[in-house]
Amino acid sequence: MKKLSKIISAALCAAMLFSFASCSKDDNETSETTIDPSLIPTTVETEATAAETSVKITHTADEYKNAGVNELNSVPILMYHRVYGMTNAETSYTGGNVDVDGYNRTSEAFENDLRTYYEQGYRMMRLDDFVDGYIDVEFGYSPVILTFDDGIRDVVLEGWNADGSPIFDSTCAIGILEKIKGEYPDFNVTATFFVNESLFGNGEEDDRKVMKWMVDNGYDIGNHTRDHVKLGDLGADEIEKQVGAMYKKLDEIIPGQYVNIVALPFGSPESMGPDKPQFDRIFSGTYDGFAYTTKATLLCAWTRSYSPFVRDYNHTAIRRIRGYDNNGVDWDIQMNFEQLNNGKRYISDGDPDTIVFPASDNSSGDWLKNTFDHQVITY
Ligand SMILES: [Zn+2]
Repeated sequence: MKKLSKIISAALCAAMLFSFASCSKDDNETSETTIDPSLIPTTVETEATAAETSVKITHTADEYKNAGVNELNSVPILMYHRVYGMTNAETSYTGGNVDVDGYNRTSEAFENDLRTYYEQGYRMMRLDDFVDGYIDVEFGYSPVILTFDDGIRDVVLEGWNADGSPIFDSTCAIGILEKIKGEYPDFNVTATFFVNESLFGNGEEDDRKVMKWMVDNGYDIGNHTRDHVKLGDLGADEIEKQVGAMYKKLDEIIPGQYVNIVALPFGSPESMGPDKPQFDRIFSGTYDGFAYTTKATLLCAWTRSYSPFVRDYNHTAIRRIRGYDNNGVDWDIQMNFEQLNNGKRYISDGDPDTIVFPASDNSSGDWLKNTFDHQVITY
């Protein structure tokens, strides 16, 4: 969850050991200076009484080093599709794959994935916060982000409780996520579901109620276009219709509570630019009187995402990992996490308002690019 009040930290004595870099979001220039201890701010918190004043915990260089804190490293954003109530033994494909390409996953494999991420020190966060450069993960832990495309079968309803809340099949995606949420309160269970016009396939009336419940219970809903088409093949007006009609529908169902992010069907287009002005309509347009904007787009999958703070991160082509098994090759889950766990993973300093990393990781001076106005600390 995003924090609304920003606390300027005190207890920065340890920070004297470090050099700081400050970088404006607008000019992307990084300048490194060593801070004069006398200039280090004392605790400042607006709109708080003395009794409520918070003091941020800061860490020494050794603490950062021992925990391997590195917020320029990569983040796994999983791309799942549909979760089927099956065991792995019930499929004829590798591991927990339900189809030959592994786009769909058994409930057994999906639940095991979640437990593995948790045990390996990953904690969930919202994709929307990632896109905003706001990574709120406990010190020493790594973010993991879950996304689901296509909607159908991820929410399987068994009925409704007396209070109007939905009862989920225990083997659908949301049923498993809710179970894990109960078992691991510190996992911060969340996910973003990208839907088409058919939503979750339960009929519009039920899906409306479910989606309202979802956004009230820590899940996000995003745009996967109205008809699941390759936007790369379309002209500007058709793109506006596909993207705009889906936003309009989301805004009718959950006004202001969906995320302005598009998961590109088939990962198309793979690249955008000034030579392809039609793709600007993915990012802003007006369909049937409804004006929309998009702040990021997701590709189909193969590998981990860059940190949003680094030079090669591209908010129009955010990478994802396909949630499938292939015996540890061809960028399956195992291969990706082996690489992440071998020195590539983002490890948090516990403070979403600072960016901490070893100075050697930005020795070129241009790897850190987008600071989102956060304070930068190197060690
Ligand atoms: Zn899709």
